[in-house]
Amino acid sequence: MKLHWKILIGMVAGILIGLLINESFVIGGPLGEFLGHFSFVRKFAVFVFQPLIGPIGTIFIKLLKMLIVPLILASMIVGVAKVGDIRKLGGLGGRTFVFYLLTTWASVIVGLFVVNLIKPGTGAPLVLGEVPDAARTTVGVWDVILNMIPDNPIEAMARMDILPVIVFALFLGAILTTMGSKGQPLVNFFDSLNDAMMKMADIVIMLTPIGVFALIAKVVADTGFSIFANLGKYMITVLLGLAVHAFLTLPLLLRFIGGASPLRYFTRVSPALTTAFSTSSSSATLPVTIDCVEERAGVPPRVASFVLPLGATINMDGTALYESVAAVFIAQVYGIDLSFPQQTMVFLTATLAAIGAAGIPSAGLVTMAIVLKAVGLPLEGIGMILAVDRILDMCRTTVNVWGDTVGCAVITRLQGDEVPQEIR
Ligand code: ASP
Repeated sequence: MKLHWKILIGMVAGILIGLLINESFVIGGPLGEFLGHFSFVRKFAVFVFQPLIGPIGTIFIKLLKMLIVPLILASMIVGVAKVGDIRKLGGLGGRTFVFYLLTTWASVIVGLFVVNLIKPGTGAPLVLGEVPDAARTTVGVWDVILNMIPDNPIEAMARMDILPVIVFALFLGAILTTMGSKGQPLVNFFDSLNDAMMKMADIVIMLTPIGVFALIAKVVADTGFSIFANLGKYMITVLLGLAVHAFLTLPLLLRFIGGASPLRYFTRVSPALTTAFSTSSSSATLPVTIDCVEERAGVPPRVASFVLPLGATINMDGTALYESVAAVFIAQVYGIDLSFPQQTMVFLTATLAAIGAAGIPSAGLVTMAIVLKAVGLPLEGIGMILAVDRILDMCRTTVNVWGDTVGCAVITRLQGDEVPQEIR
């Protein structure tokens, strides 16, 4: 059976088991009465799966995370060193950056459009929650930029601060290209490390169906469906915006600039998308993303090993869209009308907040402080949307990773490569 079918089965099974474990999930009416005769099924699920799903999900995430730092370091250095010529590298870097920025902007525009159209916050009751501490620490534009440069690359690696590691790897890779035969042993070393990491990723990926099952079962068991009751309109707004970006904007770009079949590509990279959905982390998903794009979709590693690690860290279309919708939603709940210049400010800062957000769960929720502060909205607004953040995080992370993979295919084509047979 194909991997993506196995993962799909894992997801569905995860939802079902999660619902069985979740106490608040009750089916009423005659159906419920009938099912009541089978309550032992529920007891069985609670007994067998409840103690298992937490640890199994954690093991899966840890196996993925363990690969990230060596993989990013090796793949970026090799990616840069293999491009060879610094000028060519400038071309690749420039295209990557421009593509990522334009798609992020496109998604924020969609977000602002839907939130102004649906107005989910107007007339909604003000229910404030706790504001996460991390959101209270002020982060400004300069912090985002300064944090990109490591004081100590080893420390950055140890703390899994991905952006500084990327900057270091880019720099090292670029220098190695200028060193001729003297630099070759180090290039070979990282090349070999890169291959080894990819082989390890292959094995972890075989566990994806089980990992996805456990993670989803845990989320559903913990939250159930009750969260949909409040904030439902807000969630629908975010999901609608994400859907437009994922199923319209990105496929169009893939088709007309990337020359690939969106459906085929989607199927090829679907293990990465489901991993993103269940882990809520672009970084943790990165080993799967690289594997899918290179091995299942046939995109040359030359481009993928440069474009994808960068994308997992700075290209977050879903997060940018979510931040803009959330900020305007909060304003609507407080009865504040954001003027056009203020919405432009939201547009700019949501982009920045998405670039600055790390590829880890809830990162976007924290960097939202940048957007709220820029337009003078109370930080307490974050507490209001906290309850539904997890589920939206799962969805926006999926769109983030889909955006990275689409970027990778499009940039490959722009670099003058053939569209791989697998996705034509
Ligand atoms: N969890 C997201 C990611 O890893 C970031 C966010 O919180 O929006 O891509």
